[in-house]
Amino acid sequence: MTKVLEQEVRNRAAELCEYCHAPQALYRERFQIDHIIAKQHGGKTESLNLALCCLECNLRKGPNLTGIDPKSKHTTPLFHPREDSWDEHFFWSGAMLSGRTPVGRATIAVLDINRAPRVAVRRALIEEGVFPSR
Ligand SMILES: [Zn+2]
Repeated sequence: MTKVLEQEVRNRAAELCEYCHAPQALYRERFQIDHIIAKQHGGKTESLNLALCCLECNLRKGPNLTGIDPKSKHTTPLFHPREDSWDEHFFWSGAMLSGRTPVGRATIAVLDINRAPRVAVRRALIEEGVFPSR
């Protein structure tokens, strides 16, 4: 991946994880560039298939394309940052992320976005007044 393409992805995301909205500026580890459709599924290294992704989300997403909606128990696609609207699928309940849709709920489950230590970090950032940043 070229530096120019990586910078384009970072700028487009405004330096936020495109899944959990963690702000890069508040995390020591450099966020990854996620292939939304993993290379092993034929996903290309091109702007429309790339998203900025924090390490926690990236580790759990891996090559997954789908998850199980915990409410309906149906298989559903994961959130696609280039095709889906974040606000349409997710909303904050304090430090907890909630899903408005099967896509939102399945993505939260697969990426384990509400794992206790992640919620604790967000709660601390909320108390500092620096999260959510949009
Ligand atoms: Zn994330």
